[in-house]
Amino acid sequence: MLTDLHVHLRPDDLEASADRHFTVENVEGYTEVASERGIDVLGVSEHVHRFREALDIWRHPFWIDNAVDDLGAYCDFVRAETDLRLGIEADFVPGREDRIANLLEGGDWDFVLGSVHFLGDAAVDMGGEWDVWRTGADPDKVWARYFETLGEAARSGLFDVLSHPDLVKVWGPERPRPARDPRFHYELAMDGIGESDVAIEVSTAGLRKAAREIYPSPDFLIMCLEARRPVALSSDAHTPNDLGYRYEEAVELLDTLGVREIVDLERRERRLVPLGWES
Ligand SMILES: [Zn+2]
Ligand SMILES: [Zn+2]
Repeated sequence: MLTDLHVHLRPDDLEASADRHFTVENVEGYTEVASERGIDVLGVSEHVHRFREALDIWRHPFWIDNAVDDLGAYCDFVRAETDLRLGIEADFVPGREDRIANLLEGGDWDFVLGSVHFLGDAAVDMGGEWDVWRTGADPDKVWARYFETLGEAARSGLFDVLSHPDLVKVWGPERPRPARDPRFHYELAMDGIGESDVAIEVSTAGLRKAAREIYPSPDFLIMCLEARRPVALSSDAHTPNDLGYRYEEAVELLDTLGVREIVDLERRERRLVPLGWES
């Protein structure tokens, strides 16, 4: 089987409104492409910061600008009018664990993705005024803080899956790289990951970005597998055409590393399904 459990029903820009994208017609566009590409399980995971309720967690100016939709309406739409798995991509905001838990308690999720997009107020994957690299930060410090935060996210127990686990590399050669061996930084996340029950997302989205690599890197993925963490396979699609993007490469990587099963999630219960295209 193949899953895609990290899917957005719209691009990230504010013009992509809920009205126009949380529709049966839009979802049909996704399910048609998924079936053409042999993807058996599709789960949607809208960004938490698009919903007004997110401001109970954090009032970052970027969130304030983006938090316009109603979380309950999104959940109702997915449950009542589609047969998609219902998920959400929730940021891990250190110190706000109780508030995150409160928001998550309000929904009957199939799965919750945990993402680290911000270090303090600075964004790891956004250019412009919030770009973490804008201030000339030391790359080793940025990477260390990113992976420490990722480990905390795992340890929080709030999430079923850690999304794009080495997102800090998203810019590839367009931003400074750490001088240290990246494995030093990965190690900073491993206590938290090893003590958690979280699944590790293998995401082909990095292949669409300047990083030109799957998330996570093989070295980091090997550490997670040694910590006996299961794998969730996703594309982080923001359009139907992104679904299952370059899955051949992800499946080959997982096969090389001896991974034969991936995660499916329903009502936050995890099961393992055999990995691969149905023959
Ligand atoms: Zn993300
Ligand atoms: Zn995403």
